[in-house]
Amino acid sequence: MTRTLKPSPCAAVLKDIAKRYRVGSVEIPALRAVSIEIREDCLTAISGPSGSGKTTLLNLIGCIDRPDQGELEVAGTPVAELSDNALSDFRAAHLGFVFQSFNLIPVLTAYENVEYPLRLTNVPPARRRERVLSMLDAVGLSSHARHRPSQLSGGQQQRVAIARALAAAPRVVLADEPTANLDSQTGASIIELMRQMQREHGISVVICSHDPKVIAAADDTVVIQDGRVESVKRSSDIHIVRPHTPVVGSRIQS
Ligand code: ADP
Ligand code: MG
Repeated sequence: MTRTLKPSPCAAVLKDIAKRYRVGSVEIPALRAVSIEIREDCLTAISGPSGSGKTTLLNLIGCIDRPDQGELEVAGTPVAELSDNALSDFRAAHLGFVFQSFNLIPVLTAYENVEYPLRLTNVPPARRRERVLSMLDAVGLSSHARHRPSQLSGGQQQRVAIARALAAAPRVVLADEPTANLDSQTGASIIELMRQMQREHGISVVICSHDPKVIAAADDTVVIQDGRVESVKRSSDIHIVRPHTPVVGSRIQS
């Protein structure tokens, strides 16, 4: 296979990406020839109406799904070249996820939910504990470590989900409509937290949303419509507080 992408300082580079879903004999083109660069160390909003392809795009960047066409590089890695197992390792080491419905594991405590992704890496137990406690502290939930999701409000559950997404010190955090199940004020505090974490941890955050608060907080906004990029708006000043510091031992060696 010819490889034309060069390693870049981008969180993700998409070149001529297409994705179709097949339902029976009908083919649904969800993305058509999408080419974009998502900047590193930025908060990028992906906006557009329902059904425009936002989740499909996020799932491709998150290596949850593979494109039918085009080239995709995530955190400097051309991911098409990875086997399914290598892709799982890549996701665990470099990517974090936040979902609309929080997706915490109901039988686990807040502490155990945040610890969960670290169990997929080779972080030693003592370092793991330190990391979980510091992440719970960073999202303001130290005193809720032993609560289960059902004992937390929606906003608190999403805070736990953010701590979980950041636990393994990913390079890129992907969030799909993270404020859609929250009231406006709680949604605003979640966006503020994601903005703050993005700056403090020197990570790249990509949020799919049509919430104007997300777009207002973003450095860059990509608008998609009917599976195509309609516009890309970039702010000129980006905020890099300190370089990305990985958790010792959490990285896969390449
Ligand atoms: P958005 O997140 O912007 O609402 P999606 O990426 O979910 O958009 O969907 C884009 C298009 O692909 C829509 O037409 C949707 O109905 C279709 N689609 C999404 N997921 C699937 C699927 N698993 N099977 C079939 N069609 C799908
Ligand atoms: Mg969606």
